[in-house]
Amino acid sequence: VKSQGRNGYSFFDPTMEAKSLERILMENEMRKAIDQQQFHVYYQPKMDISSQKLTGMEALVRWVHPELGVISPGKFIPIAEESGMILELGEWILREACKQNKKWHDQGHMLKVSVNLSARQIFQKDLVERIIGVLEEVGLSAQWLELEITESIFVKMEEATAVLKQLREAGIHISIDDFGTGYSSFSYIKSLPVDTIKIDASFIRDIHHNQESQAIVKAIVTIADSLQMNVIAEGIELDDQAEALQQNGCAHGQGYLFSRPLATDDFEQFLAERN
Ligand code: C2E
Ligand code: CA
Ligand code: CA
Ligand code: CA
Repeated sequence: VKSQGRNGYSFFDPTMEAKSLERILMENEMRKAIDQQQFHVYYQPKMDISSQKLTGMEALVRWVHPELGVISPGKFIPIAEESGMILELGEWILREACKQNKKWHDQGHMLKVSVNLSARQIFQKDLVERIIGVLEEVGLSAQWLELEITESIFVKMEEATAVLKQLREAGIHISIDDFGTGYSSFSYIKSLPVDTIKIDASFIRDIHHNQESQAIVKAIVTIADSLQMNVIAEGIELDDQAEALQQNGCAHGQGYLFSRPLATDDFEQFLAERN
């Protein structure tokens, strides 16, 4: 096994061994992290661009490790997905976000919270029952929860569609994240059980000086309108981008221009100032 030459497999490949070791350590750390409450949910405001009114917020997980500091989800979510840990972590995030939103409702802030769901979660057998269970447990009505899914789940079209249908029947909203970057195309969007299209940040980055991006956004907005879906843009950092979006019919947005993702205390301050 050891000497299969340069391109062959070897159990002693030092780079492979290092990777899997790092992964094992990471998984152990993650399991501890849930118990020790090292994960935190941040909330990024979603806005009506012209009125600057808050319409909802997206829950984004943060990992504050005692020695390594803040680890970004871009780093640990893929590992959690591969190992299956995402099922446990994802349900913790969902419960946390729903619990927090219920508190805000009790304070009179009737907002919808959006929670990211990974493909692995969508295909979890008892997902729908679990989510309904969490909503009942915390006392939040389904209409105040939105799930953000990515186009990657439509590789298994029939299965994914069936799950989304059940979620919508329960009253939960569905949004397609990163729209325009993946598997999606205009040809099948009409048959998808979704409420909202979230235009990927890559089309927003240059929208204020790129006609192609403007045309794409306009086309997405037109199709969404005719299918009676909502549209939101993500990654808005500049006034010029917000303006270009409005000119092309996109009324809702999210991005650093309005606010970064905020810890609960900071989000409450944002609520007090803005609503
Ligand atoms: P995403 O769902 O597309 O989230 C948007 C990302 O863009 C977030 O990064 C957010 O902080 C960042 N962002 C927001 N506004 C701006 C802006 O104006 N400019 C720029 N440059 N970035 C902006 P974050 O929080 O690091 O999350 C990265 C990705 O990790 C997310 O992408 C999502 O795929 C995943 N993720 C985060 N939290 C969760 C979670 O709770 N569950 C799951 N399954 N995935 C998550
Ligand atoms: Ca998202
Ligand atoms: Ca996104
Ligand atoms: Ca993304």
